Amino acid sequence: MDETTTKTIIIQALSTLTPPQITALSATISTIFRRHNHRISALLSSHTLFSLSLHHLHSLSLHQKSFLIARHLLTLLSHLFHFLHPTTARMPPYTTTILNNRDLDTVLLLLLLCEFHQHEPESLKTFSHANWRANLSRYISTTILTLSGIGFGSSTSETLIKYIELVAKCKKFVEVMGYGYWKEGKEVAASVAAVVALPSVEVKQGGKECVICKEEMKQGRDVCELPCEHLFHWMCILPWVIKTNTCPCCRHSLPTDDVYGEIERQWKVVVMIGGGYN
Ligand SMILES: [Zn+2]
Ligand SMILES: [Zn+2]
Repeated sequence: MDETTTKTIIIQALSTLTPPQITALSATISTIFRRHNHRISALLSSHTLFSLSLHHLHSLSLHQKSFLIARHLLTLLSHLFHFLHPTTARMPPYTTTILNNRDLDTVLLLLLLCEFHQHEPESLKTFSHANWRANLSRYISTTILTLSGIGFGSSTSETLIKYIELVAKCKKFVEVMGYGYWKEGKEVAASVAAVVALPSVEVKQGGKECVICKEEMKQGRDVCELPCEHLFHWMCILPWVIKTNTCPCCRHSLPTDDVYGEIERQWKVVVMIGGGYN
């Protein structure tokens, strides 16, 4: 999917939100961008921190780099997803996406270098690493950055535009670099946190069968209810969700700890609500 299509889908999905939801989303994203801003300033003002981050970045394989960007993308996407998909938004939040400072510094530096390289392809070739920091600082002070989400959006629309740009860039990167390690439609386990949070409900009326074992769910028995409201024996659904995060009846998907799988799951919802791209 090209970046323009991605952006169009996000814009269409955003247009389905209510004004208070837009305000809340924009406030959350502003906070994230402020953290990015703060980290980048720290990175560029400290020779040691910059060298360490650059060194760390160089030590990563292409796979690790795209995985880092995928985690970054998922953090960003999750905030939009939260508003678009209330059914699983009340499931436990996806906890492993929050990047620690070192990983965040690395991914911000990577995105910044990519953007800088696009604007000034020669600079990174001609200057030594020691000069990169000065050049990046100069670049930041003279350019309105979109890719890295750096710089304050003074209004809701500016913040959202930066958000859309950043998500689209990260998604493109992950698709080009990361999907070599990921097969679309691959089976992934439901996240442990989501499984633990599944509610137990009492069968009010007997006679319905559990589609996994084809046996009746007897009245008065406690069974598992998925967010799509389909019911199953606990002993039947647990081995199922350990293998795959989709409901055996309707394919409704539960959150997964697999980063690429979770991106795919959330993106499908954005596409569904954003009107599709076929
Ligand atoms: Zn069963
Ligand atoms: Zn279902």
